[in-house]
Amino acid sequence: MPPDAQTTQAKVSPCPQPRRLKVGGITPFSATDYPGQLATVIFVQGCPWRCRYCHNPQLQERTPHSPISWADTLALLQRRRGLVDAVVFSGGEPTMDPGLAGAMREARALGFKIGLHSGGTHPARLEAVLPLIDWVGFDVKALFADYARITQIAGSGEPALKGLQAILASGVDYECRTTLHPALLTEDEILQLAHSLAELNVKRYALQVFREQGCNDQALNASTLPGYPDNVTVARIAGMFPEFVLRRG
Ligand code: SF4
Repeated sequence: MPPDAQTTQAKVSPCPQPRRLKVGGITPFSATDYPGQLATVIFVQGCPWRCRYCHNPQLQERTPHSPISWADTLALLQRRRGLVDAVVFSGGEPTMDPGLAGAMREARALGFKIGLHSGGTHPARLEAVLPLIDWVGFDVKALFADYARITQIAGSGEPALKGLQAILASGVDYECRTTLHPALLTEDEILQLAHSLAELNVKRYALQVFREQGCNDQALNASTLPGYPDNVTVARIAGMFPEFVLRRG
């Protein structure tokens, strides 16, 4: 080998190890996390936001070693072939994880459709993985200027709006959904939010009334309101979208 070639070879960096998804939990079978599809749900560790109504607060922190290795997760997915149609990446906030695209590619290679649950904390990564995705459930917390009231993080509405715009521009199938609690969103604010989403050309929208299950905020758990949101509000919002659903309880 000529001396020049040796020099060149010495400068080549080793290939970086692929980032492995940090998995905090798995639901092997779900009929409710991807519309019309049976799915295995992978709960990714980590979320930069701190919504009071979070149903998975144990997933907010990213630990040095994930509770379930990606190798074990992939082995489980191999056993789920023929039993479920799709793999849904949920959380936590999956777009926070640098290993998301690689994990989606490996799940796709096994023949699964790919679903994503996201709030849009990392819009650049969300946009980058959209070509790998068949369906997105996108959480809209509030009017984008009011996000911090829900997430407790200043400026969080800006990335969320970018994430939603990327989804709408991509043509990927999606549902926007908003969790409702009377202490966090008034009926008038829900109407304003629905108007703003209709103006953005959102076609599929769901309202989900808060459930206590998994929520650590005792004040929220103790202050639910029967009859909220009222039927007049719901009917007005239903008329703004080609597809609309209200989920209670
Ligand atoms: S964005 Fe989702 S995972 Fe993160 S704190 Fe809010 S509800 Fe929990």
